[in-house]
Amino acid sequence: MKRFLSVFLSFALLLGLSQFLCPGLAAQAANSKLIAITYDDGPGYYTEDLLDGLKARGVKATFFMLGSNAARYSSTVSRVYREGHQIANHSYDHPDLTTLSANGVRGQIQRTNALLDKACGKGSRYLVRAPYGSVNSTVFQSVGAPLVLWSVDPLDWKYRNAETVKSNILSQAHDGAVILVHDIHSTTIPGSLAAIDVLKSRGYEFVTVSELFRRRGKSMSNGVQYRSCPPNGTDLGPVKAPSVTVQPEGDKLRVTLAAQAGASIYYSTDGSSLNQSSSRYQGSFLISVPCTLRACASFHMNGSRSETVEQVFTQPPVQEPRIQVEDGLLRLASATSGATLSYILQDEEVQTYTGPVPIEPGTEISAWARKEGWLTSPKVRASYSPRGNLFLDVFPSQWFYEAMDRAVSSGYMGGVGNNHFAPAAPITRGQLAVLLYRCGGDAPSPETVDSLPFSDVPLDAYYREAVAWAYEAGIVGGAGENRFQPDRSVTRQEMAKMFAGYLRNQGALPADTAGAADGYSDRGKIDGWALESVEQVTALGLLSGQGGSFLPKETSTRAQAAAVLMRLADYLNRT
Ligand code: ZN
Repeated sequence: MKRFLSVFLSFALLLGLSQFLCPGLAAQAANSKLIAITYDDGPGYYTEDLLDGLKARGVKATFFMLGSNAARYSSTVSRVYREGHQIANHSYDHPDLTTLSANGVRGQIQRTNALLDKACGKGSRYLVRAPYGSVNSTVFQSVGAPLVLWSVDPLDWKYRNAETVKSNILSQAHDGAVILVHDIHSTTIPGSLAAIDVLKSRGYEFVTVSELFRRRGKSMSNGVQYRSCPPNGTDLGPVKAPSVTVQPEGDKLRVTLAAQAGASIYYSTDGSSLNQSSSRYQGSFLISVPCTLRACASFHMNGSRSETVEQVFTQPPVQEPRIQVEDGLLRLASATSGATLSYILQDEEVQTYTGPVPIEPGTEISAWARKEGWLTSPKVRASYSPRGNLFLDVFPSQWFYEAMDRAVSSGYMGGVGNNHFAPAAPITRGQLAVLLYRCGGDAPSPETVDSLPFSDVPLDAYYREAVAWAYEAGIVGGAGENRFQPDRSVTRQEMAKMFAGYLRNQGALPADTAGAADGYSDRGKIDGWALESVEQVTALGLLSGQGGSFLPKETSTRAQAAAVLMRLADYLNRT
């Protein structure tokens, strides 16, 4: 049991199962009470104590910082950001902005932004609060950010008494309020924290200013001033942490991250804290162990982001087993030396691999490799078919399984390497020519093979003889300009055309098939050159529609080609 538990836990860690066991909070009830507390004029001597108090309460706040103080307390600025609070701009040294020119206003804002960027990363966005709340049209036009006032002012700078600060906040607090206090006064720290405790007990949730507006579906615009965000029946809920899925790939790990709609994901793999300068997730990526992975989801990294997910990977993954079947014996091997290999045949018990195992056709196999202290490999599945073919990517539950098994056993279809048959891959013109040729075609004349008029069919191409045959038999034409385009995928109507051409060549075309395609809802989309062929293959039941449509322009897959080929073989009585 203990072993099972530790294996399960390592899998849970590996697969990020914690995300599944504890799904992110669902959207909050729309009547939740949200409130934002803002601290001005810091950071300062008391800010670290305040941060301890906020952390203990799980409360996020907004800090309108002075650039001059951010320079002096730069490590505090970093901590404020790291702990998920919002950092905002309160000018460089607290002038009345209405006394400044447009350039003067911009200088105060940009000089401070540059200092804040050291913690938040380049390109971060900062809300602005004008000192004294003093603004004019020059400020509105020059500030380049949303402006934030307040709706609750306990005058903490005046009373310098914790009990008064607390009671003043409580008497004015309301849903959607922005509370103004200053973290440069010692009395404000205990006073505001005590008020927070009471408001939390009254059902308020403390959020950053940006989250207050985002959660209520309100956008904030540059040069516009905001005082509060009253309840409006909307609450989009907090930003959910991204889910992390990790899959061994060779000796590396492939990481896939996912977040809620509209959110971006930022991550690091070098142990660094996340900010605006971190990598932005564009798609799955590989990591080598050891590695510390951090990731968060965000609407704005500064003030509107999820908790950071952290996963530490210290173990390399075990290489997944290679499955082989030869002479009725199943063989397993892992490139990781010392790995223990396990397997399951059909629905039987788990077995430990000790050497070649006799195996009957028509058996499904799954196998995996593990090693003490390493990440267990993913499971590899295989199907040993009734006709004795080993498939790693074709299984009995798939509709084309039997046809694929027959097509491979009959030698019409080959794999794409390592027992893979790529059933969902498009079939190309060259491949389809080979398929039909193998199904029964008279060898083309050597002259045709030598003098094919296609410049893109190399002399040594495996499909050259088949293309020459199909060309000679009038089953395929060129694609114009002396080209055959052997690697171009085949549409369904092109496949119909080639199969009908083959039937004509074999003298096996049915008569009176006009109208056979009339039942397709998209008959009008079938090109004129293909219509008669579609009617012929439809009348024979070689190709049928999907849900009443023929889908003439859709790409044909290798699985579809195998299925059509086997129906053709049945019709011609060739197998
Ligand atoms: Zn101020």
